[in-house]
Amino acid sequence: MVAGQILNRGIRDPKILSVFSKVPRDRFVPEEHRMRSYTDHPLPIGEGQTISQPYIVALMMELLHPEPDSRVLEIGTGSGYQTALLAEIASKVYSIERIPVLAERASRLLKDMGYANVEIRVGDGSLGWPEAAPFDRILVAAAAPSVPKSLAGQLAEGGRLVVPIGSALEQTLTLVERVQGNLRLQEGCSCLFVPLIGAEGS
Ligand code: SAH
Repeated sequence: MVAGQILNRGIRDPKILSVFSKVPRDRFVPEEHRMRSYTDHPLPIGEGQTISQPYIVALMMELLHPEPDSRVLEIGTGSGYQTALLAEIASKVYSIERIPVLAERASRLLKDMGYANVEIRVGDGSLGWPEAAPFDRILVAAAAPSVPKSLAGQLAEGGRLVVPIGSALEQTLTLVERVQGNLRLQEGCSCLFVPLIGAEGS
């Protein structure tokens, strides 16, 4: 998976490649799809949601560029796979999931796997996690019609926020940086995520 789907398509950051080699994706895929854990596809994780395709997860990681001292906010825990990848690199990961069953499953799994620097809560992630803000990095794993204001407001100076922006049918993976107080947007590739459902989503 790492060689064929990630390295081959231009992801070169050794830190990212190494965490992808370390975190077993099959632990995050439901039993009935486990055989396909390392294929180049999103897979169902129940509740109508999916674990993203490995390449897209890698692309988001590259754009986000988490550092060892980063405090990260993730919106859309889903299976918890990307949460684990983030927790391998960053000092602390706060993750919000709106569907309780998914949040509980991910939370249990990450605890079993020994991740002590992860906090997961159920709620509307489009509003962020004000009590723990500001964040050095914010990753949104669901599509928003525009940059959610609350999330931009919780981004630290010099911070990076990655969010798919667009309609339900097509989005652009967007990098938002806070530079001297201002937000700077940079558009990346087109992508397809499930919608961010919430007050500042769709
Ligand atoms: N990165 C995840 C994939 C998540 S799919 C993984 O690796 O498995 C997107 C997730 O975002 C879904 O689980 C969905 O329920 C969740 N979601 C959608 N809107 C949300 C919101 N407003 N707040 C929190 N989670 C949300």
